[in-house]
Amino acid sequence: MKEYFVTIYKGVRSLLKGMKLTGYYFTHPREIKTEEYPDNRATLKMFDRFKGEVVMPHDEKNEHRCTGCQACEIACPNGTIKIITKQEIQPDGKKKKAIDTFVYHLELCTMCNLCVVACPSDAIVMAQTFEHSVYDKKQLKKVLNKPGSKIMEGVE
Ligand code: SF4
Ligand code: SF4
Repeated sequence: MKEYFVTIYKGVRSLLKGMKLTGYYFTHPREIKTEEYPDNRATLKMFDRFKGEVVMPHDEKNEHRCTGCQACEIACPNGTIKIITKQEIQPDGKKKKAIDTFVYHLELCTMCNLCVVACPSDAIVMAQTFEHSVYDKKQLKKVLNKPGSKIMEGVE
């Protein structure tokens, strides 16, 4: 019988302990650290070091900095990147290697950043996007160079 009341006492004590903490944060809302995701989508700012996916920035003229050198593809430890190149005829008639398609498999990427570090022309960066859920993983295969884009003048 004594054991029964001891168990009830411990249960009530544990409940009050939890309620005390709840009550504290109820009266000190500014100290709450929990993010109200996804309600805070519009204002949510990830911390600086967060890496969500590899992207290739393009400027307003639809130009990028990728030469198609494949250094990122070689640096990637798990075959996430596949660079398809082509030969372009220059104004002087010479042929030059250029990027045709930059294939990026987001489903394989570990966000290690090695490709970004390996790139000699700063053509790719890590973006802070993170909502990557899809029903079909084929949708995670991305082409990073935009349709009709070309390399910026002066980038070799
Ligand atoms: S971040 Fe790492 S895993 Fe992802 S593509 Fe770059 S090198 Fe590969
Ligand atoms: S992203 Fe950088 S490393 Fe990769 S192919 Fe383009 S220029 Fe080379």
